[in-house]
Amino acid sequence: MKIICIGRNYIEHAKELNNPVPKEPVFFMKPDSALIRNNKPFFLPDFSNEVHHEIELVLKIDRLGKAIEEKFAHRYFHEVGIGVDFTARDLQRVAKEKGLPWEKAKAFDGSAPLGGFLPADTLPDPITFRLDINGKTVQQGTTADLIFSFDRVIAYISRFITLRTGDLIFTGTPAGVGPVKRNDRLQGYIGDRLLLDFVVK
Ligand code: ZN
Repeated sequence: MKIICIGRNYIEHAKELNNPVPKEPVFFMKPDSALIRNNKPFFLPDFSNEVHHEIELVLKIDRLGKAIEEKFAHRYFHEVGIGVDFTARDLQRVAKEKGLPWEKAKAFDGSAPLGGFLPADTLPDPITFRLDINGKTVQQGTTADLIFSFDRVIAYISRFITLRTGDLIFTGTPAGVGPVKRNDRLQGYIGDRLLLDFVVK
């Protein structure tokens, strides 16, 4: 399986990192070794002094598809979950300045804690979600603020890359990203459902 992540999919987040609002989706990938499941702890890597949390809704692809039409894209996922796209912001800054790829900053071991999923047809439209750290809400988002809808994202990615059952799409983070530190407890919610709950070590 593969993990595909959308960058800059919420206007306020693009602005907070001084990025232009994109005209088409920006995406990048993480390997399966990035995944952390079952609320296992996240260990801060020794190569970064600035690991940021990015809470994101995650689509679980459950059908093979290539060049999917936007109007059929909803048929390719039936569950929506929540995860964190951990980012070594200091390494990403250097990569951006030099025009280099982002993998070191985005795809490292443990950079994708993944929580539980809910059936898509039980979720309201728009979907709200949030991240609490040590009991305090630090990021909250709503799919009403997406620049590119789930369907648009699936159609776009599948022009370039075949989607397979089990692939995950991290759909971008709302504003409020910031550093995590040792002993932080991160809790991710869709609506009021706690679906992700782990500590930083
Ligand atoms: Zn992200």
